[in-house]
Amino acid sequence: MSLAEVRNRIAAACRDAGRGINSVQLLAVTKGRSIEEITTLIKQGQRLFGENRVQEAQEKWPGLRAQYRDIQLHFIGHLQTNKAKEAVSLFDAIETLDRPELALALKKEMEKQKRRVPCFIQVNTGEEAQKGGVAPKDLSELAGLCRETSIDVRGLMCIPPANDVPALHFALLHKFAETTGLKELSMGMSGDFETAIRCGATEIRIGSALFNTMKI
Ligand SMILES: *Cc1c(COP(=O)(O)O)cnc(C)c1O
Repeated sequence: MSLAEVRNRIAAACRDAGRGINSVQLLAVTKGRSIEEITTLIKQGQRLFGENRVQEAQEKWPGLRAQYRDIQLHFIGHLQTNKAKEAVSLFDAIETLDRPELALALKKEMEKQKRRVPCFIQVNTGEEAQKGGVAPKDLSELAGLCRETSIDVRGLMCIPPANDVPALHFALLHKFAETTGLKELSMGMSGDFETAIRCGATEIRIGSALFNTMKI
């Protein structure tokens, strides 16, 4: 699909759900994509992007940011604590805060760099051993730690298990956001973004559909 088609489908999904079209932001996932592919999207007006590797983002984005000043770049991959420094300096939001040690490492770096980077807490809604995200039972404690240390947590993020019905995970994340008093919900990818919009997503993360490497 083209960016225009994706936007049309987002608009239609918002209409069906009785939501305003500006209530959902499209984050373009550009992991593995070239500067040229990214530039094509920027020229069509896309400004919100996501990367899942710190090093790859460091290689690709400083040049693009120098050229296009209003870009917003979110980190959406697993973050090691020893990469907190680079992550805090490079990204406008970190969507994968999922454990106390990482919260403390990020807090320390934000103070050092005098840069307050908004975060999302990633929740492992499917409780998969190999996946990042805080276990649902530990969410309120992690959210509490973030409040105590004044980390600016905007919302929650999840990646549903590949073989599960995504709507169940989106509904669960929505419920967790309500109980923790958080507003933003980063959920939904190329294959399930319309479902995510119906379940209250405020940000959807789309990669393959935008680059025509996936038929949906
Ligand atoms: C790759 C990725 C996406 C985009 O997935 P597509 O199915 O290609 O749209 C979204 N979120 C995260 C965390 C990703 O790593």
